[in-house]
Amino acid sequence: MSLKLSFYGGAGKVTGSNFLIEGSKGRVLVDCGIEQGADFAEAEVYGPFPYDVKSIDALVVTHAHLDHVGRVPKLVRDGFKGKIVMTPATRDLAALILLDSAHILAEEAARLGRAPLYDANDVEAAFALVETLDYHVEKEVAPGLSAYFRNTGHILGSASVRIKDEEGVSVALSGDIGNSPSPLLPDWEPVPDADALVMESTYGDKLHGQGDRNLLLKESLQSAIKRGGTILIPAFSMERTQLMLYELSNFFADGSLPKIPVFLDSPLAIHVTAVYEKWGMTYFKPETEDEMKREGSIFEFPFLKQTLAREDSEAIERVSGPKIIIAGAGMSHGGRIGRWETRYLPDLTTTLFMVGYQAPGTPGRRMMEGAPSVRIAGAEVKIQAKIEKLEGWSAHADRDQLLAFAEASLPQKGGHTKTIFVAHGEPSAERHLAQRIHDYLGARAIVPEYGETWIVEKDSVKKV
Ligand SMILES: [Zn+2]
Repeated sequence: MSLKLSFYGGAGKVTGSNFLIEGSKGRVLVDCGIEQGADFAEAEVYGPFPYDVKSIDALVVTHAHLDHVGRVPKLVRDGFKGKIVMTPATRDLAALILLDSAHILAEEAARLGRAPLYDANDVEAAFALVETLDYHVEKEVAPGLSAYFRNTGHILGSASVRIKDEEGVSVALSGDIGNSPSPLLPDWEPVPDADALVMESTYGDKLHGQGDRNLLLKESLQSAIKRGGTILIPAFSMERTQLMLYELSNFFADGSLPKIPVFLDSPLAIHVTAVYEKWGMTYFKPETEDEMKREGSIFEFPFLKQTLAREDSEAIERVSGPKIIIAGAGMSHGGRIGRWETRYLPDLTTTLFMVGYQAPGTPGRRMMEGAPSVRIAGAEVKIQAKIEKLEGWSAHADRDQLLAFAEASLPQKGGHTKTIFVAHGEPSAERHLAQRIHDYLGARAIVPEYGETWIVEKDSVKKV
């Protein structure tokens, strides 16, 4: 027996992660994402899916980032009626992210004078189809096809998925692979038991900084506090914000920072942090769970203020002296951080920390490149603040970790993968990782093109 694997996203396209796996009786999609930060290729994002949506039995979602879930409500709007399978934590995070996204899409649609890609009703209709599946439980999700999740250490609830037919032929998809070790999540698990493996390659040609990222963060905060001004941290709402809160709480507890006010000024990040609190005892690594048991919360500390309401947010400006403001969006391309950048970037005493990837064209990228001013919410803002980039906070595995993930699936390490597809990266990163898998591990590595279909059998993987 065989499985058919088709590539309908990632790989040089703006539409985000989307794979179709077909057995003799059932059809399963893995992920249904939208690309972020890219210029929308309208026909691709708004147009019909390249397969019969109504014929799909199930959609399996690896994690709650928009490039993996962003078009799920559109899939449902277009007629999908199967089940949607994800981990319980992914369900809670995806609900927050998609409602937030529906809000942004509505604003964008109003500006462009068109119908939005989907709305809150579509999000609700999608979640009526959701069934949760925990890690390490095999479950039939479509006729003749089962799914099995493993932790990937990327964000809360993130999973790789193996899809297997009744004869035992299987295809696994890595989802996004985390930057292990992390203080919160256990390390990613290898996937040694699939006939073919599709893996991500976001950082397929890059290494993260080798220094101690915590020490660097602590020392940078200490000198920023000495300068006496406001410290701005534009942060992504999922994982990065919680890591920052966790580290800040440790720094304050061990006395390495003076007790200054910290504001979490992002409704989305506040709600996401509550989901992390809710599921911490299920998903965090054992020593972090012990810490939660001892301390109640690992993200809160006495002078942290979560400013959900607009008036609380506005009141931040009246707090004088050094203070830390964490707000989205992570690339300064929206959200509440813009207000604080407008207010504080012209001050010489301000420090702004960059803790994540800054896409070309975003205000964050221009600041990182040393621009003397930046355009925020339609106005040009002069930058007198110190802009500091902190390395090592990515939620993705780097070049060498990706190679280790690939190696763990191969026969020489006891695995049984014969073919690795390298996807979900910039073309150069995909090619670079595929080359290294071939040269260093002696394995067959393929960079698939959009729209390609491959036949996976027990002892062969070939293109249709
Ligand atoms: Zn991701």
